[in-house]
Parts: sequence; C-alpha cells; structure tokens
Amino acid sequence: MAGGSREKTRAVIVVACFVAAISGAILLRRLRKRSRSRSRSPKIGGCSIEEKPQEKFKRVLADNSYSPFKHLKRDDKGSPTELHPYEEEITHLLQNPPVLPDFVSDNANAPLDMSGSYTWVDTEPQLKSLAGILSGEKVFAVDTEQHSFRSFLGFTALMQISTVKEDFLIDTIALHDVMDILRPVFADPSICKVFHGADNDVIWLQRDFHIYVVNMFDTAKACEILSKPQKSLAYLLEVYCGVITDKTLQREDWRIRPLSMEMIKYARCDAHYLLYIANCLSSELHSKNTSETSSFSGDKLNFFFEASRRSNAVCMQLYTKETEPSPGTSAATSIFSRTFNQKLDLAKVSELKEMIWKLCAWRDLMARIHDESLRYVLSDQSISALAVKLPKVPQQIYGTMTESPSPIVVSHIDELHNLLKNSNLSIDDLFDNILEMRLDPVGCCPLSAYNYALLSQLSSKRGDMFNFSLSGSEKVAQTGSKRASRELFIKKFSCKSPVYHNCRIYASDGRLLCYCDRKKLEWYLQRDLAKMVENDPPAIVLLFEPKGRPDDEDNDFYIQSKRNICVSCGEEKHYIRYRIIPSCYRMHFPEHLKSHRSHDIVLLCVDCHEKAHKAAERYKRKVAEEFGVPLFVQKIVDSGEEKVIASIGLTNNKNSNDGGKGVSPLHLRTAAMALLRHGSSMPSERRDQLMETVKAYYGGREVSEKDLESALLVGMNPNERRRFGKKKGLPLTLDYKSTTLIKNGFPSNIGNGENNGHNNISYSDNHHNNDSSEACEVGVLESDRRLSLLGHGPHGKLVVEQLLEKYGDEGILQFCQKWREVFVEALQPQFLPGGWNIKHSGKRDFGDYSVYNPTKKV
Ligand code: AMP
Ligand code: MN
Ligand code: ZN
Repeated sequence: MAGGSREKTRAVIVVACFVAAISGAILLRRLRKRSRSRSRSPKIGGCSIEEKPQEKFKRVLADNSYSPFKHLKRDDKGSPTELHPYEEEITHLLQNPPVLPDFVSDNANAPLDMSGSYTWVDTEPQLKSLAGILSGEKVFAVDTEQHSFRSFLGFTALMQISTVKEDFLIDTIALHDVMDILRPVFADPSICKVFHGADNDVIWLQRDFHIYVVNMFDTAKACEILSKPQKSLAYLLEVYCGVITDKTLQREDWRIRPLSMEMIKYARCDAHYLLYIANCLSSELHSKNTSETSSFSGDKLNFFFEASRRSNAVCMQLYTKETEPSPGTSAATSIFSRTFNQKLDLAKVSELKEMIWKLCAWRDLMARIHDESLRYVLSDQSISALAVKLPKVPQQIYGTMTESPSPIVVSHIDELHNLLKNSNLSIDDLFDNILEMRLDPVGCCPLSAYNYALLSQLSSKRGDMFNFSLSGSEKVAQTGSKRASRELFIKKFSCKSPVYHNCRIYASDGRLLCYCDRKKLEWYLQRDLAKMVENDPPAIVLLFEPKGRPDDEDNDFYIQSKRNICVSCGEEKHYIRYRIIPSCYRMHFPEHLKSHRSHDIVLLCVDCHEKAHKAAERYKRKVAEEFGVPLFVQKIVDSGEEKVIASIGLTNNKNSNDGGKGVSPLHLRTAAMALLRHGSSMPSERRDQLMETVKAYYGGREVSEKDLESALLVGMNPNERRRFGKKKGLPLTLDYKSTTLIKNGFPSNIGNGENNGHNNISYSDNHHNNDSSEACEVGVLESDRRLSLLGHGPHGKLVVEQLLEKYGDEGILQFCQKWREVFVEALQPQFLPGGWNIKHSGKRDFGDYSVYNPTKKV
C-alpha cells in the first residue's frame, strides 16, 4: 500500500472527527466506505484494500495469544516440544561440517546474468513441482520478505529461491497454508541452503510454516570469519557482482500484488547472486586455510568449517513469542525513559508511569485483537504525548496524537477517553472495559484465527460476555444456532456434580484396592462388609479378604484417583459420561465381561463427546459391513407377504427414497411418532421428509396410519411395546402382544432386544439419552434393562452372538480393544487416567462379596 494514500485516508478521518463529534462506529463505517472507493490496484495479496490478506490464512501457527509457540512435532521422533525438532540432524552437521557443493563450475557465467525470466509460484501444483526441482539440487539460495505493519507478529509475504539455473518467487500469501510442501527440502541435510544474514529468516519460517532449515551456509557468517570490512548484502553485491541495489525497497509493502517491476527485480536480486557469492567466499575460506595453517602449522582451525558451523548454529535458533510480565510493560519502560522530564515531582512521575503503562497495555491488547502492529495502533510518541497532556475530550485526544489516528483509535475512542480521564481505573478494570467495548455491534473487533485463542482465554476467565462478529467463514465457524444448541446441551446433559467421588476401598492389610463412588461404599457398609476409616474423602476397609488385588493382576487402573475433567482436552467446567464400548453391544456381553465398566466410561466435554460419537457411528457402520449385520431395518412387501430384511446402512438413510437402504429403528420411530402426533399441522415439506424415512422402511410403498403405528414398535420386545403404549398413551389400534413381524434374514431377533441401547448422545441430533444420574460403577444390571427408544435394533445382539460363537470371550475382549482404539484415534485424549489401557482386560475373578458377582451371596 502506498504510504501516501493511507495518510490521506487518515487525514480524511481526522477532519471528519473535528467537524462533527460522530461516534466511532459511524466513523469506522465511513472509513471503510472511503477506502473501498479508493483506487483498487494494486491489490493487497488478492484482497481489497481494507481487507487483510492474512484473514484468509487457515493455518495460523503463531496466534496473538499469550500462550507459547508450539513447534513442529515430528511423527518419527518422540521429541518433546521444547527441543528443536531437527536438533539431532543439526548437531550432526555441527560436528561434521559439510563442504559447500561445487556448483558453479558447470554454469560459470550464469550467476552474473539476471536477464532470464523468473518463475512466479502461486499455486499448489507449482509449489509441488518446485519442491521436486529443489530435491534434485545440491544447493539453492533463499531469502524472504516480511510484512509487519498490519500484523501483530508479522508474516512472510514473499520467498525467493534461486538455483544455479532459475529464480523462483513464491507467493507465500497465496500459498500460506501449503508451504509445508517445502518442509522436506529445507530439512534435508544433504541439500545446502545459502542465506545472507539468516537469523531472522530461520525463525520466521518456523513461525509461519514450521519450516526448519538444516544445512545452511550463511554468507554473512563467512564475511565475519574473513574479517570483511562490511558484511551487508549490498556490499557483497557491489564487490563481487558489480550490482548496485536500493535497499530502501526492503521496506516496501510486500503484500502488494502484483509486485511492481522494481520490487520483483529487488527481490530476485536478494537470492539470485547468493550462490555465486557463496562460492567466492567459500574459496576464500579454503585458501585462508592453506595460507594460514601453513604459517601456524599444527593449527587445526578450518575457516570454512567454522563458517559452516556458525551458519548451522543459526539454524538451531527457535522461534518464541516475546513474553513480558504483563502486557505493555517493556514498551512502557522504554517510552517512560524517553518521556521522563526532570521537572516533574515524584508524585507526578508515578502518575505518568502509570498512565504510560495503561496506554501500552491498551495498545497491546488492541493490536492482538485486531492483528495489527503496535505502531499501527498508536505510536510511542503519541502514547508519551497523551500521558503528559491527558486530553479530556475525544477531539483533544486526536489533536494530541503525533500521527493521524488509526481506525483502531477511532473505533475505540470512548475506551481510550475513559482510560485517560479516569486515573483510578485499574489495569484489571481497563481490560474488563476493553472486552466489554469489544461488543461493538458494528463488528470493529472481528474474531479471527489470530485472536481466537486470546479471546477465548480471556473469555473463559470472564464468563460469557462476548458476542463478537465473525470474520471469514472458515476459521472459527460456530454459528449462533450451533452455539446456542451447544450451550443448551451443556446445561441439560452435563454432569451436575462430580462424577468421581474418589472414595477409596482398602483391604484389611491396608492396601488400596480401588477408587469408587459413594454408592459402592454404601453397598459394602450397609451389608456390614466394611468399616468406614476416613470421612473426607471417604474411605472404607473391607472386613473380608477380597479375591485378588488389582495390582497383583497387573491392573492398576482401579487404584488411580480419577479427575473430573474431559479426558480428551482437560475441560473442567462441564463433562458428560461417554461409553467407549457402545451399549448396543455391551448390553449383550456375558455378565462376567461387563464388570469393567468404569474403565470404558470416561468423561468428555460436549465437543469431544460429539467427535467421539461421530467416530463411533462411523465404526459401527464398518462393523455392520464386516459382520454382515445391518444397522438398519427394512420391511418389504413381497407378493403379499411382509418381510423384514437386512439392510446395511452405509449411507445416510435420510435420502433413502429408493427403498434400498432401509432405516435405523431410531429414525423410523422418531419420524413415525412425529407424523402421528403432528402430521396434520406440520409444514408439508417436513411431512414429506419424514414420510420418506418411514417409506424407506416399507420398501418405498405408500404408508397408512396403521403402518405408522407399527413403525413405532420396530425393534421393541413385547414387554417394551406394552410399556411404551402405556407411557405414550397413544390411541394405538394395534395389539402390542400380537404384533409380530415376519422374519426373513433376521431370525428371531426383531423385537427381541431388551434395550436398543443407543448409548451415546450428540448435541447436534435432536435425541438425547441422559443418564447422568446413573452411578457409574454400580447399578450395572438395572441400567441395561431400562426402556430405550434409541438404537439400532437387532444389530448389537447379532454382532455379539457372532463374536461369542466364533471366538468366545477372547472375541469380546478383542472387540472392546478395537473400540478403545477407535476412541483414542478419534480424540487423541490427553488426560486419560493413569492405568487406562487399550489392552485392558475384562477378565477378573470376582470374590464372593463383590458387587459384580452375579451370584452374590449377600
Ligand atoms: P532482507 O533480509 O533484506 O531481505 O529483509 C527481509 C525483511 O526484513 C524485509 O522484507 C523487511 O520486512 C524486514 N527488514 C529488514 N531490514 C529492515 C529495516 N531496516 N527496516 C524495516 N524492515 C526491515
Ligand atoms: Mn530480501
Ligand atoms: Zn474435551
């Protein structure tokens, strides 16, 4: 962006401010309108002038929050995050410096010639082909250009790569999200990367793309070793290549597209000659070796290797976000030292200090929220002037500032005004105010991938007072309705009190047997099988000798105290039980394999719950396919005879008007119920939709009212049907007892399921199964008998029967393991209780008094 045009834009605002005291919001709108009508070319990174190209980035590795930067985690290395991901490779290079490949000989004249064309790389296929070219090179030169004015942390706007044959200019704005395509060539120790003054480039590449340079030759380091009078690139270009450059272009706005001819030339120049220069410096280093080691015989210093080592030491640097004790402190210190005036008395000094600090804190938060540089928001000089003069009205604030006010200052002028006039305002109040102000309905504080973490950190501390506008559809796509649904879901279904009471049970010899809930303790206490030994949290000692000890069985899961948090992400504020083994299967397990329930019921927050649930539903479909046992049911009218057939529901059954896919009992019953109850009053569109679902069950034929009533009963046993009829009070004309379905392909199972246990819940569905009141380690038997209207009909039972028939108990254990794997794969849970194990075995011998013993003696 041409600096002049922005100045003009700003001037317009200032005038507007003085002419009328208009609210910041109106001004901002006006500003946007003005900049829109401004000249449209050149554009900024493909965006119109007031848009910022980084708003289109989807992968933002370094956000504007206060949390530390997360470096690349390599799959092949179990390296902890604090270490450089390529530490091993770089260390090896430091100990065994590589020689610079001999590359100029076959291209002797090329280096000084820049008349050829260059390649502009701005599509993914082009970048992939470049990666291919580079992987075949022994050496290539690199430089990057940054943009830091309209961004808080800055971003790489251009990357220049030159091989001996060709210059490439890579549009790192257009390709921001796929730059990892170049990660392998940069990390390849057999390819030398030539930079000039790489200190910044190395960490910028980490910050934006998780690109780490391994094997580098830095021409500036070579200059150091050779004691050159200067080590700037301009000097080297002039001395070795006879090229004079205008380094002022360095500070151009590198977001502009298309780049001007001048900028293209400058950018190419920065990389094009580097290989040639490196070659010259390398020979000088080698000849310095021979000349100087001959005069100091025995001296092992190898100048070339020293340059190589210093270069690769630069690669070891790690990008970190700057941290300070509290926001704005370091800027405040330096501004204060420049502002401090000897004439001020002590009280005034501390007042001044305080105000500068507050202004800096305000500026810091504003810059982070809006993803702007500090100096774009408010200059140091203005902060100093404002703190000294303490202007009392908005117009005076604008007048006191040394530059034209930025749109941020304009749209937040009330806040700034409040801050300046109210010296009693604490930093905490200030932040609260800022965050409240951010509710500006005009949307002057858009939510983005850059500030999401920052704002959610702050918002989690300050309750839910935010309702900011969303910028960009992708990033944090949480629509209002989805959020409302989520919140409702949390309210309704999350556990109301801690799930794990962490009560303890000890054996009579004092060894800890397990942690459990209060109900389990009471079970033993009521039967005089234990005595209370501690109250808070409660603990009992068993009065009988338990059969086996958990730790004897190599099974320490049960003696871990469990935390009331989401086992996946650690969320503490709400959680819901999640059954890792869906109960549509588990309910059919033999009793002795059901005991290890607490291992396979974990707590999840709603977001993780939904993720896990989706993965489980996916896996159920796979199970259906593998076992040849359908999830969905269908009844087909065939030559006058009704048959229920199996239908493997591999696709979403909602669009199943072809009659070939069938329908899950759950969807069938929900649809039938809605039609029976509200069919006449609902919009015809919705009615047709529900009718399709029911028709899918009846093979696509027209359905009668009686069919609807029959559909309500699909998947229930006679008992359930009776209870269901009473509960719903529906004027059903059917006789529940006599309703039988003719079986075909589903021998004896339709309607036999005790419980069609659709175990898990999803807040984006409209059906929930809330059993948070259920104790998690006792009441196992009762809970499985509960009537449930949710589920997959006979699927679970058939699968379990097959497993038991073919593989016995071992089959069930393997099946459980598989479900745990599905769970772990879907969530990568970070907070599973110690001792939790995919291989957890359900085999355990129960003592006579165990609550799990099916033939309990008590
Ligand atoms: P260079 O290493 O010369 O290609 O510079 C790379 C990037 O660093 C440029 O795109 C600028 O963003 C930034 N930069 C380097 N030196 C300066 C400077 N003196 N003033 C402002 N920005 C600079
Ligand atoms: Mn450059
Ligand atoms: Zn979670």
